[in-house]
Amino acid sequence: GGRITGIKSALRVIPNFPKPGIMFQDITTLLLDPKAFKDTVDLFVERYTNGNISVVAGIEARGFIFGPSIALAIGAKFVPLRKPKKLPGEVISEKYILEYGSDCLEMHVGAVKTGDRAIIVDDLIATGGTLCAAMNLLERAGAKVVECACVIEVPELKVLSS
Ligand code: 5GP
Repeated sequence: GGRITGIKSALRVIPNFPKPGIMFQDITTLLLDPKAFKDTVDLFVERYTNGNISVVAGIEARGFIFGPSIALAIGAKFVPLRKPKKLPGEVISEKYILEYGSDCLEMHVGAVKTGDRAIIVDDLIATGGTLCAAMNLLERAGAKVVECACVIEVPELKVLSS
């Protein structure tokens, strides 16, 4: 079968995690399948090679699993976007609203510069709130966000939030 078919079948869904009613998309089974894991990285690398991308920004925590391999393969720097109080240096922060409460992403000052061309990597997009915050953070620092790269899209949530 094709690469996408192989990747899909290496993912699994865990019902009622972390709360009742949530169908959790689990990427850890994809990581156990070296062919499907490599195909996932390769599809992004093929898409972004020759795209003049200078930054791969990965969102904590699962963006850290896919982002660095993509960055190394396309010759870009890797920038971690972290939850509050994890980065030791001076940071810029972007708060965002979740279904219940709020959260925040932080990036080191100086990690990106004006004119950098960035992609943002995460495992999954649902409402898009996390990626929006990440885009704001990078653009406030002067980078251009060329695209967001996710392994999984949850389309029903996308419709609800649009
Ligand atoms: P959004 O901000 O788009 O609503 O939610 C996406 C964020 O929540 C991502 O950082 C993603 O890792 C996490 N997330 C939400 N639901 C799931 C899920 O079912 N599986 C995984 N692996 N991550 C999820």
